[in-house]
Amino acid sequence: MFEKIVIANRGEIALRILRACREMGIKTVAVYSSADRDLKHVRLADEAVCIGPPPSVDSYLNVPALISAAEVTDAMAIHPGYGFLSENADFAERVEQSGFTFIGPSADAIRTMGDKITAIETMKAAGIPCVPGSDGPITEDDPNATAIAQKIGYPIIIKAAGGGGGRGMRVVHSEAALLNAISLTRNEARVAFNNDIVYMEKFLGDPRHIEIQILSDSHGNAIHLGERDCSMQRRHQKVVEEAPGPGITEEQRAFIGERCAEACRKTKYLGAGTFEFLFENGEFYFIEMNTRVQVEHPVTEMITGVDIVKEQIRIAAGMELSFKQEDISIHGHSIECRINAEDAKTFMPSPGTINNFHAPGGIGVRVDSHIYNGYRVPPNYDSMIGKIITHGDTREIAIARMRGALSELVIDGIKTNVDLHLDILNDSAFQAGGANIHFLEKKLGLS
Ligand code: ADP
Repeated sequence: MFEKIVIANRGEIALRILRACREMGIKTVAVYSSADRDLKHVRLADEAVCIGPPPSVDSYLNVPALISAAEVTDAMAIHPGYGFLSENADFAERVEQSGFTFIGPSADAIRTMGDKITAIETMKAAGIPCVPGSDGPITEDDPNATAIAQKIGYPIIIKAAGGGGGRGMRVVHSEAALLNAISLTRNEARVAFNNDIVYMEKFLGDPRHIEIQILSDSHGNAIHLGERDCSMQRRHQKVVEEAPGPGITEEQRAFIGERCAEACRKTKYLGAGTFEFLFENGEFYFIEMNTRVQVEHPVTEMITGVDIVKEQIRIAAGMELSFKQEDISIHGHSIECRINAEDAKTFMPSPGTINNFHAPGGIGVRVDSHIYNGYRVPPNYDSMIGKIITHGDTREIAIARMRGALSELVIDGIKTNVDLHLDILNDSAFQAGGANIHFLEKKLGLS
């Protein structure tokens, strides 16, 4: 096992990784930008190294600074968390070339899955159901573009191969708009992702977002931990997540979960990963794979009892998975609300000092957050300041506990989206379960 790990991230996920390391008896190195000296995990880590000024490009995305932090502290491995460099194949390669272990899959796997076209090709070959689409790049000059779209059937969605974060997508409803839409999306993708390759996919009308968590080790073992439902989205960004997916049957879970685990065995995938699907009329359609730990991983931990971050570390150290598929069973229901420092109505970020903070508690309540009384939320990074996760024997109990937890929660001094969460939880359509990906935007009057 590693003696010391560099946590190449900030905020709640850095604290989450630190907690796993402490439990495993692994020493930790926190790296931080000069805006983040007061982060909770920086204070708790065995060592801390300042890696640059506030802008992410100069700190959390600064590869030489991160490698040298590992060198000067004599660490053995680097955990990238999510976001920042977590899905950057060049970074994973540099880490390994510098003699450290990257806690995640191989650079090749990250590269393959980072390009949505090669990801879809790989998954198709591994027997994963995908959305009907162009099966490769398209351009506005392609003489077959209109024929391909016609065959798929309108509406279609044009997506950037290198896209992420809900950006680089455009829905097209008719042939008249097709070529111009391809050209516009390519231009946007070139600017945003430095890659103008786009492809076409059937635009599903009312799907849910269902994703499968997998763990895969270097000994040929791969298991799935069931599904999460992340259909509560705004601008293709998740707001509330839950596990298991309401109404997903044992058979559906085993069918899709087994295929994902088998795809990992076939591709010799290493670490934790998530297969994202759209789910419509009982069918799963693969859209992409995330090759890292996800923000919403706790809901899976709550219903399976598996510590996903600990397993990531064990796998990277060459150990076997602690669990076999038959050891995994699902207990109760879990919900996560992402707490953002933002206006609940305009969604504008609201950085500043938290002058009063009280965390909720009680049975079935988990708080993954780095904030504390007097903490100043810097304006430089993502506005998520933590997550409240609840668990109960039934979905109703998990919801009731979440309502209780959110009404106990006090965060004064900045604006938060807590009222939006209460609004969602109090909505009878949410309470019924199984709402689709358009539900929240419709509720907000955005679509
Ligand atoms: P990103 O990498 O930016 O997160 P994804 O491919 O995961 O992009 O898609 C994000 C979201 O966009 C999905 O959860 C869904 O809401 C919507 N979406 C993507 N592809 C389709 C599709 N073919 N039909 C309908 N909605 C889609």
